[in-house]
Amino acid sequence: MGRMVLMLTERQRVILRQIVSPPYIYRWAGLLTTVGLVVGVTVVVLADVGRPTVLATGAAPAAVAPSEGGPAMRPARAAEDAPARGMPGFARPAITSSLLTVTDTGTDRPAVALTFDDGPTPEYTPQVLDLLAQYGAKATFCTIGNQAVAYPDLMRRIIAEGHRLCDHTMTHDATVGFNAHDLMTSQLSTSKTTIAGVIDPPATIDYFRAPEGAWTPALDQVAAETGMRPLGWSVDTLDWTQPGTAAIVASVQQGVHPGAVVLFHDGGGPREQTIDAVRQLLPWLQEQGYQFVLPS
Ligand SMILES: [Zn+2]
Repeated sequence: MGRMVLMLTERQRVILRQIVSPPYIYRWAGLLTTVGLVVGVTVVVLADVGRPTVLATGAAPAAVAPSEGGPAMRPARAAEDAPARGMPGFARPAITSSLLTVTDTGTDRPAVALTFDDGPTPEYTPQVLDLLAQYGAKATFCTIGNQAVAYPDLMRRIIAEGHRLCDHTMTHDATVGFNAHDLMTSQLSTSKTTIAGVIDPPATIDYFRAPEGAWTPALDQVAAETGMRPLGWSVDTLDWTQPGTAAIVASVQQGVHPGAVVLFHDGGGPREQTIDAVRQLLPWLQEQGYQFVLPS
C-alpha cells in the first residue's frame, strides 16, 4: 500500500485519504454491508429454489381431501415397492396426485377396496385368491404386463372369480409419467392391450396405477385417454418393506375408513407377511361391518 501511495500524485493521495477517512469510510462500510446482505439473501433463496420440490406432501394434502376418507387415515405415500423393482439410484419422482377413487357400496355398510400390486405371481396370487374367496371378497389386481403374460392361468382365475384388473405398466416403469405424450400413450396402450389380451375374450381393464405412485398430470391424462381411471390408494400398508405381519395389520386397522382404498402387494418380493396380514384382516374388516368393493 505504501508503495502504491508513493506512486500516486498529491491530488490522488488527497482523494484516497478522504475516501478512507470519516465520513466516507462509514458510507463504504454501509454500502459493503448492504451488498453483502443482498448477496447472502439471494444465495439462500436460490439454494431453496434449486432444492427438489417433493410433493410427497402432495400425499399429505391428499390425505385430508374429502375423497380420501377420514382423519384416521395415514397419508398416502409414494412408497410402494421401489426397492423390489425400482431403478437403483433413480430419485423418487414427486407425487403430483393421489387420484383416489371413492368407493360406494350403495348400502349403509362402509366400503373398502382392497388392491394387490405387482403380480400375478405363482407364489402369492393363488393364496390371496383363496383368502378372498373364503370371505367372498372382491379385489383389484394391479398387474404388471410381463407378469400377466408369464402367468395367464392366474389372470384367468382372477377374472373368473370376479375380481378386477388394473394396468400397472409392462415392466413396473416408474418413469413412464415423465415421457413425452406420444410415448406415454404408446406405453399405456401396449400394457393395457397386453394385460387384457392374456384372457380370451380380452378382459376389461378399468384402472391404471402408476408404479411407485409416480403420478404426473400428463400420466393422469393419458390414462384417461387410454380408457383407464387413475387408481391411487388411501391406506398404504407398506407391506413391501416387510415390516412384519403385525405392522401390516395395524396399518389397516388404524388407517381404514369408509371408502378406503388399501394397497397390498402380491408380487415384487417375499410377501408371506402380506398373506398372513390379509388372513387376519379379512375377518377383522368384516367384523367392523366393512363391505369389500371394487373402486367405483
Ligand atoms: Zn407396484
